[in-house]
Amino acid sequence: MPNYDPQHFGFSTRAIHAGQEPDPLTGAVTVPLYQTSTYAQEGIGQHKGFEYARTQNPTRFAWEASMANLEQGCAGFAFGSGMAAIDAVMRLLSSGDHVICAEDMYGGTFRLFDKVLKRYGIEFSVVDMTNHDAVKSAIQPGKTTMIYTESPTNPMMKLTDITALASIAHDAHSLLIVDNTFASPYAQKPITLGADIVLHSATKYLGGHSDLVSGIVVAKEEHIADQLRFIQNAAGAVPGPMECWLCLRSIKTLSVRMKQHEENAKAIAAFCSQHPAIQATHYPGLPTHPQHVLAKQQMTGFGGMISIELGSLEKAKAFTTSVKLFTLAESLGGVESLVCHPVSMTHGSIPKEQRERLGITEGLVRLSVGIEDKEDLMTDIANALDAIS
Ligand SMILES: *Cc1c(COP(=O)(O)O)cnc(C)c1O
Repeated sequence: MPNYDPQHFGFSTRAIHAGQEPDPLTGAVTVPLYQTSTYAQEGIGQHKGFEYARTQNPTRFAWEASMANLEQGCAGFAFGSGMAAIDAVMRLLSSGDHVICAEDMYGGTFRLFDKVLKRYGIEFSVVDMTNHDAVKSAIQPGKTTMIYTESPTNPMMKLTDITALASIAHDAHSLLIVDNTFASPYAQKPITLGADIVLHSATKYLGGHSDLVSGIVVAKEEHIADQLRFIQNAAGAVPGPMECWLCLRSIKTLSVRMKQHEENAKAIAAFCSQHPAIQATHYPGLPTHPQHVLAKQQMTGFGGMISIELGSLEKAKAFTTSVKLFTLAESLGGVESLVCHPVSMTHGSIPKEQRERLGITEGLVRLSVGIEDKEDLMTDIANALDAIS
């Protein structure tokens, strides 16, 4: 079996082969779907390492090994959704712990922290992660055990300097957790920048076809992996084998999909940034993005997510129904282009003052640029902008 160390093979090669060797029993080139809940034992205590499928499933193990390799961590843990993955990571905490989290997180993550985890005696400080002094002054020595961030953020496409935050976190004996959903490991590998745990909603770019809900966590070091393995089995929010099998199918094309998402998004962002009906275009690949230099340093791609400011609720509403190729829907990262209105859809649970401070206005529209022909997507946007102005 070749050594799929990143020193030996590139990302695309590893996405196809790491964790996905031909099946030793039959030679099947595709990892089999082990749709089973339990395993026959030869005698009491005599088994092949597989007892019960919440604890062990070969299809899930293959998917976890694949992601551990791509994110360059020591082990991966799959969950039934991105939120279940985040919830499992938060179970590393104890009552009385303090967490510093980004002010512009995914709305569902904010809701989990604010409405569920606070009740268990976990404290949160919500800060602007680009303001390193604010992060440092939020630290409560001995109590702050975790810094939690996303980069790029949803929907303003702000970046977190992962290397800088990792050093702030480690100076305070805290863990740095990065939600890498928007970039995917193709475009960013937080563990190589110093993060301790990276997690994803696999529902998005990893799954990539808008046909599954799943989540994955990768740990950098073994002692954290041991705790996550225990939590995954003890709390039990595992995905079914079918989701793992679909994720394995999808991960093989992650590179080609991400290349096309990015090529299309770059062209669309350039077009939008020149269009008179659009007041602002947020995309880290644009030279005008305030953190474009950081994006080039810490990312190996810019992804396929763009937000545009149309100026008013009326225009945003009209735009979302005038586009024909962009489907109005929640979610992102699939091969088909989607449009969404964060204020009324994904970010409904963020308090109004916080939303406005972040620039998540009623006129803001988010595009998940798919892998259709970019000329068709640009014509569609141009026609919709004509129709609303
Ligand atoms: C969608 C999303 C989540 C939640 O994932 P689910 O699979 O929907 O549970 C978490 N973080 C980010 C950045 C997301 O986009």
